[in-house]
Amino acid sequence: MRFCVLTIFPEMFDAFAGHGIMRRAVESGKIRLEPVNIRDFAEGRHKVTDDRPYGGGSGMVMKPEPLAAAIQKAKSELSQAPVVLLNPQGRCFDQEMARQYAACSEMIFVCGRYEGLDERICEAYVDDEISIGDYVLTGGELPAMVVMDAVIRHIPGVLGAEDAAECDSFSAGRLEHAHYTRPAVFGKNQVPEVLLSGNHGAIEDWRRESALLRTVLRRPDLFDQKGLTEPEKKIVQKWCRRLEALASD
Ligand code: SAM
Repeated sequence: MRFCVLTIFPEMFDAFAGHGIMRRAVESGKIRLEPVNIRDFAEGRHKVTDDRPYGGGSGMVMKPEPLAAAIQKAKSELSQAPVVLLNPQGRCFDQEMARQYAACSEMIFVCGRYEGLDERICEAYVDDEISIGDYVLTGGELPAMVVMDAVIRHIPGVLGAEDAAECDSFSAGRLEHAHYTRPAVFGKNQVPEVLLSGNHGAIEDWRRESALLRTVLRRPDLFDQKGLTEPEKKIVQKWCRRLEALASD
């Protein structure tokens, strides 16, 4: 998959591409990450990319000409790529959007700065606007990294275990189960006995119950999107029986 990122701070992406799973994906050729400096498309000696807003007020606005030239150049090389603007006013990013974008072979990101882009760029060139949450950052570079990081996890072969992204929180409408590693006893706390048993069926049951409990306690809103499965109903019925027994004591 090819990512082209239009930004006035291309060097911010060096650390991102140089570590962990992203570095391995780049080195293996599964991912190509090309940060492009919007300033290179600006006219004049000072390569200015921003200007004062019409109507007055504080802050600066990204000028349309360098952005248009940078997007046109990117599209001439990545003709299939959707142009995605990072924008706090966009659609709120989630795991399903990450999974859908992973099916694309290429993407172009536009990172805003200052008060954002001249609106005519959004109207003429942008296919999608993505927000990473209801707060405002100083630029679109971190949001672009967040989106790319979540997207690449769904590309086959990028993660060590092929099915890892499918087990992640949100993929099946639930939070993931709790995790433990060695030592078996840490302080006064022991790893749940079943995880040491080698009984794969029992471990699977425990993980399903752990995932369900965490979802109930932390993100009950997820049940609005996906109701209980049959195995989950059995777990909830078991909890109900236990609670009834407690209440009747
Ligand atoms: N004036 C804009 C507003 O109030 O909607 C905010 C502009 S922000 C300071 C500058 C840039 O950061 C935006 O153009 C966008 O690219 C990026 N940005 C900030 N917060 C973001 C968020 N939550 N999600 C995605 N991009 C964001």
